[in-house]
Amino acid sequence: MKITFLTVFLAVFSLSITAQDVFETIEVSYNLYAIENPKGGNVAFLVTRKGVLVVDAGSTPSNAEKIVNTIRTITKKPIKYLILTHVHGDHTNGLAGFPKDVKIIAHKSLEKNYKEFNQSNITNYKNNVLPNHLSNLKAKLDSIEDKKSTEYNTIMEDYNSSVDYYEDVKRIKFRTPDITFEDFYTLKLAGERIVLEYVGPGHTSDNIVVKFSNHNVIHTGDLVFNKTFPYLIIEHGVDVYNWIRILDDLYKENIYTVIPGHGEVGRKITLKYQSDYFKDLSHKIEDFMDSGNNLEEIKNQIKPKDFNLKGNESQLPVNIEVIYSELSNKGRDWWKF
Ligand SMILES: [Zn+2]
Repeated sequence: MKITFLTVFLAVFSLSITAQDVFETIEVSYNLYAIENPKGGNVAFLVTRKGVLVVDAGSTPSNAEKIVNTIRTITKKPIKYLILTHVHGDHTNGLAGFPKDVKIIAHKSLEKNYKEFNQSNITNYKNNVLPNHLSNLKAKLDSIEDKKSTEYNTIMEDYNSSVDYYEDVKRIKFRTPDITFEDFYTLKLAGERIVLEYVGPGHTSDNIVVKFSNHNVIHTGDLVFNKTFPYLIIEHGVDVYNWIRILDDLYKENIYTVIPGHGEVGRKITLKYQSDYFKDLSHKIEDFMDSGNNLEEIKNQIKPKDFNLKGNESQLPVNIEVIYSELSNKGRDWWKF
């Protein structure tokens, strides 16, 4: 696929999505399921006799429709609540694929952030990036004489999936959350207790965690990228120092299963792995700073292979830059783990 930047805001292209497609589900606890979404943020859903509660909306309307179809294979109960863990499009751009009457719950700054961070990117994708991409591909196809060649077929495949993706992106529509909160929100549903907690800035300024109290299961949103390099975006309020503290605090709680924003469903130890990655990286950066290296030199010396992670390797230099600037701004004595 040619267009890969902005994958945080918009999903990677989907090759063959049909309405019948469903995802695999993992029953992490009784009536509580996880979907390890390959085209967006991971989803959790809880089935109760009074309806279904879902965490995160997927990356596009068709991604969301596949999530809804998957839920429908487990239960016919109505989908009542949809919780959004944070602003990023791979967790929110699926909204239009959910039933119209679903109640959306999010942190109070999510709507403002969505308009600020996502809206112009989506408009740009819709009006410029994707139409240009399609007309470039079309021109390439027209210029190839042998319509049976492998090159022609490869570009044709790209063209067709891009058309599907373009149609999907055109359907993205944000909806104002019905319920917002500042610090805590507790939902009681048919004997279930779901606690939503704003933990302060970490991955974004609006990231919340969702605790399924009856199950000792947590959906962390993108505060956990399991076994892959995390996305850190300065403009979206990233705060690695606080992120580490959030993870260390959660690690003290009675949690058994962790549904991360990306990567496989994990156990409690997954929280520690994420925190350890940041500590390890910050210690490496500190050592290089002590030996008089500047940011560029540090970026050149720390490599993806120094970590036991796979995927999003291009994010490592960004991770280094963010931690380097936090270390410089906050002061080394203050930043101590
Ligand atoms: Zn995110």
